[in-house]
Amino acid sequence: MTFSTRFAPSPTGPLHLGHAFSALTAHDMALAARGVFYLRIDDIDQSRSRPAWETQIFDDLHWLGLSWPTPVLRQSNRLPRYREALLRLWDMGLLYPCRCTRADIRAAASAPQEGACLHGPDGLIYPGTCRPDAPPTGQMPTDSALRLDMARALARLSAPLTFTESGEGPNGETGTIMPQNMPQGVGDVVLARRDMGASYHLSVVIDDADQAITHVVRGQDLFEATQIHVLLQRLLALPTPLYHHHGLIRDADGKRLAKRDDARAIKTYRTEGATPTDIRRMIGL
Ligand code: GLU
Repeated sequence: MTFSTRFAPSPTGPLHLGHAFSALTAHDMALAARGVFYLRIDDIDQSRSRPAWETQIFDDLHWLGLSWPTPVLRQSNRLPRYREALLRLWDMGLLYPCRCTRADIRAAASAPQEGACLHGPDGLIYPGTCRPDAPPTGQMPTDSALRLDMARALARLSAPLTFTESGEGPNGETGTIMPQNMPQGVGDVVLARRDMGASYHLSVVIDDADQAITHVVRGQDLFEATQIHVLLQRLLALPTPLYHHHGLIRDADGKRLAKRDDARAIKTYRTEGATPTDIRRMIGL
């Protein structure tokens, strides 16, 4: 099978040194394996995505010396495909509508009997307020968020959940998933938001499968989310790619670079006269 990987930035801000590291690592791995490097635009969150950022992404990556097959896959064009997958999960009885706001979840999760609010790879762990006792029947609603009933989803698995990791998680973890910890440690993740058609977790899994990605190369900040992706692959009968989570580029204080961190934007270095080789050197490549 041809080695295929992708870099999937969200056009919600400038690319910084951390993105350059991720894109160059994926690109170099594909080159070494005589494979394919795809660029994908993760613009599922249309409220935050901007065409100007997308143009800047293309420009910065070309400047870094990267190339990729066109046309580029853009999530905003693929909502019907994501809906198909949601319908399948709905028909399996694994989804339920949720109308809780963030504030509702925070309040319910921090109620005295619940103890402190717990965070998982999908943010605050959902306390289950809207979870029905039996799977909902009838048409899949489109006017509310849809959550995956984690316990019910895990109960359908007939084989252990594992994946192959050639990098490592932030604490040296490899591809071992503890499904028994997922209801408490991950919770009922959102797979469709009312304003967004599909969540990151659902769209990334469908896109990787449709593009026949064999190697997902990305930062360790997404390591914990991988258990959700592998679970969705199993439920939807999709292949699980190999994963390579790499370390994060940090600033001088050891803090992870953020999209807002304009000071380390590739654009800023370019304006100051840096070359692509300087960028590679700065990030240790
Ligand atoms: N779009 C995601 C991000 O900007 C990356 C998704 C992925 O590589 O799985 O962090």
